[in-house]
Amino acid sequence: YTQAKALTFQDYGEPPSVLSLHKHSISPPHGDQLTLRFLASPINPADINQIQGVYPSKPTFTTALGTPNPIAVGGNEGVAEVIALGDKAKSAGFKRGDWVIMKAPGFGTWRTHASATSGQLLKLEEHAREGITPIQAGTVSVNPCTAYRMLRDFSLLKEGDWFIQNGANSGVGRAAIQLAREWGLKSVNVIRARKDRAAEDKLKQELKEIGATVVITDSELQSQGIKDMAKEWTNGGKEPISLALNCVNGKAATAMAKLLSSGAHYVTYGAMSKQPLTIPASLLIFKDIHFHGYWVSRWSEQHPEEKKKTVEEVLDLTRRGKFKDMPVDEIKWDWETPGEELVAKVKDTLEGYREGKGVFVF
Ligand code: NDP
Repeated sequence: YTQAKALTFQDYGEPPSVLSLHKHSISPPHGDQLTLRFLASPINPADINQIQGVYPSKPTFTTALGTPNPIAVGGNEGVAEVIALGDKAKSAGFKRGDWVIMKAPGFGTWRTHASATSGQLLKLEEHAREGITPIQAGTVSVNPCTAYRMLRDFSLLKEGDWFIQNGANSGVGRAAIQLAREWGLKSVNVIRARKDRAAEDKLKQELKEIGATVVITDSELQSQGIKDMAKEWTNGGKEPISLALNCVNGKAATAMAKLLSSGAHYVTYGAMSKQPLTIPASLLIFKDIHFHGYWVSRWSEQHPEEKKKTVEEVLDLTRRGKFKDMPVDEIKWDWETPGEELVAKVKDTLEGYREGKGVFVF
């Protein structure tokens, strides 16, 4: 039997009031089962929304972890090592020591160990995981995949073309900056203004170092002279800004749409400000801007093969030093780590102005 601990919840609510550390044991795997030992699992904003019960993809509530009432394990992304497996799982191509990521959301990744079936897992082939750290493998399937697909699947950007994005310092934003640099695209990156000017300049510099062409704050974006500034960046307006990636919404997201060229595409994937997105009719009628939404969960379910390829491509760039990790706050999770300490870290995630994404490291 394998002893396991998991951050679980029985009811939806705010993480500090509903999450608790639950201990249970996992029986030896047979048939198509595998026993996993987690290596790294991030805390993504959507994980919090899922626990609050306001996210469309639901967690799996189960009594399989030995409780009288069904409970669910938090977290949707992560990388784990196969430590034991049944014969059928072996025939499905898995072996001890393999690294696996989750095929779909809802698995529950904030746990030391888990039991899984082969169909739930995507194996990272030896060549793909070579030289890759658990944190890199554990954070590759949501943020980088989202950035990658949004840059590729909505507008045919050619080398030298521009896109604009807000939330530029988010995991997705930083991934977009780096992929764009590799593909020869130029980017206008919007961050939230900081009260501390030195911190703001430091962040701007940091994003330029990973490949951002231009970095401005949301207040600069909404200032009088922005149209002229944009003209200067884009060779007098001759180079089109043909794609926008929106993580934030609210007024600054509307301002971003106004910088787009005619016929451009505007993709919304996040809702960090909790404000609605307001679109002036003129942008639709006269400028023919196309508005879309993107959800990586839907895309992954519809394109499992493409997902595997996208993940491998990002890991390849990582291995070659062309794709840097996002800043992370490593949260060491040992057998002895108290539940309250882990829950406190989960709570921090939606607070904003953070130095890095929380990642449980086992
Ligand atoms: P991170 O935790 O890496 O970054 C969060 C970002 O949000 C930071 O840029 C932060 O900026 C900003 N932010 C936080 N609070 C606010 C606020 N009140 N107003 C404006 N900006 C704020 O996030 P991820 O990259 O993992 O995710 C970013 C967003 O993208 C989330 O909404 C997430 O759910 C969504 N997402 C959607 C996907 C999809 O498929 N649709 C896939 C992946 C992510 P600051 O430093 O200024 O606080």
